Amino acid sequence: MTDPSGYGKVSDQVLASLIEIVGDKNVLSGDDRENYARDETAELEPALPEVVVRPEDAASVARIMKLASDKLIPVTPRGGGTGISGGAVPIYGGIVLSLERMNRILEIDRDNFVATVEAGVILSNLYQAVEEQGLYYPLYPGETSSSIGGNVATNAGGMRAVKYGVTRHFVLGLEAVLPNGDVLETGGKFVKCSTGYELTQLITGSEGTLAVITKILLRLIPPPGKREVLFIPFNSLEDAIGSVPDILKGGTLPVGLEFMEQDIIKLVEQYTGREIPLHDHRAFLMIIVEADSEEEILRIANHLGEVCLGHGAVDVFMPGSERAKRNLLELREKFYSTVCHFGTPAIVDAVVPRSRIAEFIARAKEIAHRYQIPLITYGHAGDGNVHLHPMSYGTKHSEARINELLVKIFEASVACGGTISGEHGLGLVKKKYLPIAADKAKLALMKRIKQAFDPNNIMNPGKVIDLGQP
Ligand SMILES: Cc1cc2nc3c(=O)[nH]c(=O)nc-3n(C[C@H](O)[C@H](O)[C@H](O)COP(=O)(O)OP(=O)(O)OC[C@H]3O[C@@H](n4cnc5c(N)ncnc54)[C@H](O)[C@@H]3O)c2cc1C
Repeated sequence: MTDPSGYGKVSDQVLASLIEIVGDKNVLSGDDRENYARDETAELEPALPEVVVRPEDAASVARIMKLASDKLIPVTPRGGGTGISGGAVPIYGGIVLSLERMNRILEIDRDNFVATVEAGVILSNLYQAVEEQGLYYPLYPGETSSSIGGNVATNAGGMRAVKYGVTRHFVLGLEAVLPNGDVLETGGKFVKCSTGYELTQLITGSEGTLAVITKILLRLIPPPGKREVLFIPFNSLEDAIGSVPDILKGGTLPVGLEFMEQDIIKLVEQYTGREIPLHDHRAFLMIIVEADSEEEILRIANHLGEVCLGHGAVDVFMPGSERAKRNLLELREKFYSTVCHFGTPAIVDAVVPRSRIAEFIARAKEIAHRYQIPLITYGHAGDGNVHLHPMSYGTKHSEARINELLVKIFEASVACGGTISGEHGLGLVKKKYLPIAADKAKLALMKRIKQAFDPNNIMNPGKVIDLGQP
């Protein structure tokens, strides 16, 4: 179905069936629904679901999906609600299916280095449980109150992707409920698999449009011994970005390699009231490195420092104490709330080959200059993922103007060999730009995949791809 007016409503009879499946207190149809009407996307209108259901197991999810399918009711899966593309916003009302009660860590298998978790497990709880077993789940997608199911559904990335990749590189298998209520199991506790189509990876990153993820098998690794953070000021962004290829050629991949300019540093200081060392310079790299011993980490840090000084770095700052390191990383994590505080109608998370970051940023700045819209830039220099924020600072830019600006910026990212979203997903707010990055054949295949999983278009409709899109 592509016409939302054809969707069924949550009638009293449907409500009674939902209550029978999950119990009275797990069916929310009053004011509580407001907590499920938005995610963390800046300046996005909330949309109220008709009802929120909170199942506790896959069997209940299957019954809910079968009911929704029979009654043609749209279903929006929801994890932590920290997404920043509007993916969890129920734009056609219907049912929000919250995974929050499915929050059990079922097993940490130390022999196979695999964690089996329910989809609603919160990232911070996973870190703790894995650490207690002497293992490590290295991905760090910015917001630790997000759910693992949400991370898998968005293929979340974050600051450690240079060394470790993104969520899909750690997903070994899934349990997922299809829109018709069938329960699907994919993958397993093994590293290799050449057995038919790769459904685990197809569902990963599908943003709740193909299936409800209920259980996840995650690959774990041994923990690193030591971690160090370097904060390196430069006189220009060009110098900072220019040092990235040589940093990466150095033999040891950093865990994270972030760039930022002075404007976001000043704003975050203003927003948090905390000061960042060496804040008077134009641009900065923040490099996170891990190694097994103190000696090794110092050797790597010295080498990276020298590479940067050779590219015009003004200084190399190593915070030293754990507290100072944490402080620096925390301030980096505050960038998104900072730009939201000062007013931004959009976050761009375009990705380009890392060798072309400087070129892409220069093009984006030139475009923003033409539109006379201030642009904040920062991001993951080590993996080519660039965050750009058109800023409003209290002035409202028209929606049409912002849209034109974004089209031009996304076209520039594609022209640089990149694409529209590196980690946040298309969700609601970026789906209309998909044709910039996907040709007709790809769009048509994506639609056929969607239709094969979800012929009635009840699974998070209106997200990622519009079935009416040419
Ligand atoms: C301050 C801040 C910093 C952030 N930094 C990063 C970052 O560095 N890198 C990054 O990648 N992201 C980042 N994010 C975005 C966000 O945290 C991630 O997208 C996260 O993966 C969303 O998880 P969630 O559980 O909150 O998902 P939700 O917001 O609840 O949902 C996101 C999408 O996944 C779908 N979904 C959720 N659970 C399921 C499920 N079980 N089955 C099927 N579909 C499901 C939803 O329908 C929706 O489309 C940041 C967000 C904030 C607020």
